[in-house]
Amino acid sequence: MKLSQAILMVLSVSLLASCKPKEKAEATKDDFKYLTEQFADLKIMRYKVPGFDSLSLKQKELVYYLSQAALSGRDIIFDQNFKHNLAIRRTLENIYLTYNGKKEGKDWDNFTVYLKRVWFSNGIHHHYASDKFMPEFSEAYFKELFKNSDQTKFPLEKGETVEALQTKLIPVMFDPAVAAKKVNLDPTQDLILSSAVNFYEGVNQKEAEDFYDKMKDPNDSTPVSYGLNSKLVKENGKLIERVYKVGGMYGQAIERVVFWLEKAKGVAENPKQEHWLDLLVQYYKTGDLKLWDAYNVAWVEDLDSQIDVVNGFVEDYEDPLGRKATWESVVDFKDFEATKRATIISSNAQWFEDNSPLEPAYKKKSVKGISAKVITTAQLGGACYPTTPIGINLPNADWIRKDHGSKSVTMDNITYSYDQAALGNGFMEEFAASPEEIALAKKYGSLAGNLTTDLHECLGHASGQLAPGTNPGALKNYSSTLEESRADLFALYYIMDQKLIDLKLIPNLDVAKAEYNSYMRNGLMTQLTRIKPGKNIEEAHMRNRALNANWVYEKGKKDNVVELQVRDGKTFVVIHDYNKLRSLFGELLKDIQTIKSTGDYKAGAALVENYAVKVDPKIHTEVLTRYAKLKIAPYGGFMNPVYVPVEKDGKIIDIKIEYPDNYAEQMLKYSREFSFLPTYN
Ligand SMILES: [Zn+2]
Repeated sequence: MKLSQAILMVLSVSLLASCKPKEKAEATKDDFKYLTEQFADLKIMRYKVPGFDSLSLKQKELVYYLSQAALSGRDIIFDQNFKHNLAIRRTLENIYLTYNGKKEGKDWDNFTVYLKRVWFSNGIHHHYASDKFMPEFSEAYFKELFKNSDQTKFPLEKGETVEALQTKLIPVMFDPAVAAKKVNLDPTQDLILSSAVNFYEGVNQKEAEDFYDKMKDPNDSTPVSYGLNSKLVKENGKLIERVYKVGGMYGQAIERVVFWLEKAKGVAENPKQEHWLDLLVQYYKTGDLKLWDAYNVAWVEDLDSQIDVVNGFVEDYEDPLGRKATWESVVDFKDFEATKRATIISSNAQWFEDNSPLEPAYKKKSVKGISAKVITTAQLGGACYPTTPIGINLPNADWIRKDHGSKSVTMDNITYSYDQAALGNGFMEEFAASPEEIALAKKYGSLAGNLTTDLHECLGHASGQLAPGTNPGALKNYSSTLEESRADLFALYYIMDQKLIDLKLIPNLDVAKAEYNSYMRNGLMTQLTRIKPGKNIEEAHMRNRALNANWVYEKGKKDNVVELQVRDGKTFVVIHDYNKLRSLFGELLKDIQTIKSTGDYKAGAALVENYAVKVDPKIHTEVLTRYAKLKIAPYGGFMNPVYVPVEKDGKIIDIKIEYPDNYAEQMLKYSREFSFLPTYN
């Protein structure tokens, strides 16, 4: 299961994810190019892999082999998404490389954008919306490209001519009615026949459902995930599963995945890891779902290894029947530094509780912080490339989760990159009140945001206690907003505390200033970019931010703590007194805790209704207009780093990491070096 797939990343992503300790104090000004390009509604970013150089040589080798495995299955996801995707990708790539006409002008630009979109979505359907996206060049232009490119390099089937290929692809690409949706979830239609995904052939929904219903054994308490790793097809009137395995469907790519997994096994960190890698290999060789389960059990029980990998047919979101899984891979290693920080915060939980501004009666006498594991992503593959989740919780099988547990991780360096990339998109330049504010955000913004999240998740939600006899459900429809407010305020109050310096979590209180700037700017103004004109704020986290920011703004007005400054018709949030602001956060925290502890529904309702719901239409319009001018792409994906073995006398003596920044080149390289499947499978 993937945690929040990050979509709108202009607002600090770190506020969305779960308990996640983070980036060390290295979050000083960072000149790495996080955002490389934008096209259509997409942006391409890069992520760094901090800590890779401190891994041992053996661990580096392990990361390298697992990364090669992650890339080796690339063709699979294209073919799973739609059976013509590989033919289209290969056709477009041939044109891109060998067209001998003018490679410039509007038509050519539109052609390259289309190709980049196909690469990005692993096919011709939008990765998120699932609709087929249409080329913005004409059929006539496409034919001209076809005619003037290397005729010997098109992906022809046996006996197929170039003309026949062109005739086959034109309606698939240009006719909006053909394969209109990758995954159709409209229950009034046959979900299989109306979806373009390539999990079924010649089979309708009823037949597929009957086929799998018959497999179910109601007495089996540890059932395999029936149908997970196969395509269901009708052959000579009979339904059969074509299983994804070595020697089966997608065998040529899976063989390469296995080749690299075997290498990885050879440098495993410990016997446990070697064991689950072996089970994964055995599963790929046989397609036996019992081995898949055995692998998952062994994997989830390995808590010792630093290097980890997800590699397999895992998630079933793309099957309208929720059964067949797409191929994906994520290679990562545990971030000890960041995990240490969660531990520091959690182990001081009682001090934070005792020294908080809460009414003594509502402080918890014995509080235990919550900690979690943080990972550094090292490589993305298959369905996780280039659009990646920011957290993963696996395995998916219910009985394994119940009997053996699950692993939950947050992908720290991905979130960090989202934040950094957002710094370069003009958003800060438009909305921050001064260049000093921007400089502070660049220097400390990420550390501040992450630390706030840590404090919110690890301490904020865990803090406080109810008065005896209070009904925990008393705040009803206002409870989530007030709960999130409380956790945010706990974090905001403490981020400006000397204690954080003493614990070496922050170098100085400028970190808190960076957080206060962004929190107030967001709560009073910029989060309104996500609200349609004329609408109220509905979502609990957004309401919480509006409540906290509006309340302290109003209460501090007489002392000019926070000012809404208008310059040349643009409004800016300027904080004049950070210490006062901190004590106002503390005051509101105390009030909200009392409301929660006593179940005071009326007071809670008044706070939310007065400060968190309604939007000032004037400022809303202004924010939307300013935001629209920035043309920020709503969806993002990441290029991968490259691991380069350094060899001496035929032996690997080091692995270097490189960060290429040309997306088209990375895609063409993958197509050259990691394309193992035939055009049709
Ligand atoms: Zn929360």
